[in-house]
Amino acid sequence: MVLRLFNTLGRKKQAFKPIKPGEVGFYSCGPTVYWYQTIGNLRTYIFNDILKKVLEYDGFKVKHVMNVTDVGHLTSDADSGEDKMEKAAAKEGKRAEDIANHYWQVFREDFKKLNISEPSIWCKATEHINEQIELIKELEKKGFVYRTSDGIYFDTSKLEDYGKLALLDAENLKAGARIDLADKKNKTDFALWKFSDTPGLRQQEWQSPWGLGFPGWHIECSAMSSKYLGIPFDIHTGGIDHIPVHHTNEIAQGEAASGKKCVNYWLHGAFLTFKGEKVSKSKGGLYTISELQELGYKPLDYRFMCLLTHYRSSLDFTLDNLNAAKNGLEGLKNKIANISSNAPGGDGEKYLKEFEKSINDDLNMPGAIQALQKLLKDDKVSGKSKIELVRKMDAVFSLDLMKKERVIVPEEVQKLAEQRWQAKKTKNFKLADELRAKVTAMGFVIADMPEGYEIKKA
Ligand code: AMP
Ligand code: ZN
Repeated sequence: MVLRLFNTLGRKKQAFKPIKPGEVGFYSCGPTVYWYQTIGNLRTYIFNDILKKVLEYDGFKVKHVMNVTDVGHLTSDADSGEDKMEKAAAKEGKRAEDIANHYWQVFREDFKKLNISEPSIWCKATEHINEQIELIKELEKKGFVYRTSDGIYFDTSKLEDYGKLALLDAENLKAGARIDLADKKNKTDFALWKFSDTPGLRQQEWQSPWGLGFPGWHIECSAMSSKYLGIPFDIHTGGIDHIPVHHTNEIAQGEAASGKKCVNYWLHGAFLTFKGEKVSKSKGGLYTISELQELGYKPLDYRFMCLLTHYRSSLDFTLDNLNAAKNGLEGLKNKIANISSNAPGGDGEKYLKEFEKSINDDLNMPGAIQALQKLLKDDKVSGKSKIELVRKMDAVFSLDLMKKERVIVPEEVQKLAEQRWQAKKTKNFKLADELRAKVTAMGFVIADMPEGYEIKKA
């Protein structure tokens, strides 16, 4: 089956064709590690994970690279403001490196909780300063950079198609240039290297051919993606907020330096919103995954909630939504736990086909979940086939659908089930049925086994 993906570059669904048959080079913009990742950020990483698992389901070998931004991301996208890492380090009275490692580790724990598989390669911006300097030198050699009082900037007017990803309109940009250019030549020009204001004041600064300082935020992704995946590579992802600035600038510097198209498919995940506004780390960020756990939710309830909305549609967070997802997932898991493996019937391949059609149609997870629900409902499909297909589908969903929760059965229910068993053994079927009904009313079901019985949650 052909995988079709919506490419932001060109704004249409395209059949996915890898550069090397059977292999995929995949880069995702990673976290800026000055604080916990919110469930907003994590929506984007769940989308990345689904994409990766669909590619793997389709038989591709995926090399997945994710960066860790531990320097150079300023509080304003306009290359002004403070460095988020330095600001957090000063606030917490710690070394920037320790802050970065702490929040990165928490992020990795969130990955585990959400069944997000780790990338093949993690790469930190601070461990690739030389690669970034080399790339800026290349841009300088080709005439794309100029110096201002605070750094080395990329001259976006030197590229004819600057802004093609975001469909930026060059004329409008020029008109908007009246406002605060500082000593930049064009409004969209961006920093490749920033000078330290007062040498020794920052924790993170390096010598470079242009002076003591630190890299701009965008250059790290171009330097590290090309180092680990080459040029061009297949897929690059991030949240939609990256389209107008970060990814636009990655394309500009990558193409200017190499003279080639660097990425074939750009995919972007829509926002998690709250009351219609983007959930944003810098504004306090709603919840972390640990906070949702403290409220009694399982991390996979949140993963399921995300799968119920297509990744390109925004998703408004409410606890009602999350409750519905929690109940929905519990319902699915109970149905699956209650499949009797020797229930007779035919195979359920048509539902697997429907699932595959959905996942390959630009990662349509709501459609794929519907296919699963239809499969579970169909009495004509054998228990064995159902179990096999659920296992296949869960390779993509990663909801632990087959994992049995440890059911805590109240003593009262255990007593009733035992009395029912004894009644059945003595062929008092009327009493046995009455006792079973009592157990059912208490939210449990009794499954008879060849030897004895099992109590499950209804
Ligand atoms: P950051 O740590 O701020 O660099 O962001 C990490 C990732 O989260 C980026 O890919 C962002 O695009 C994404 N992101 C930020 N806010 C949201 C949100 N509210 N919903 C979905 N993704 C987001
Ligand atoms: Zn990036």
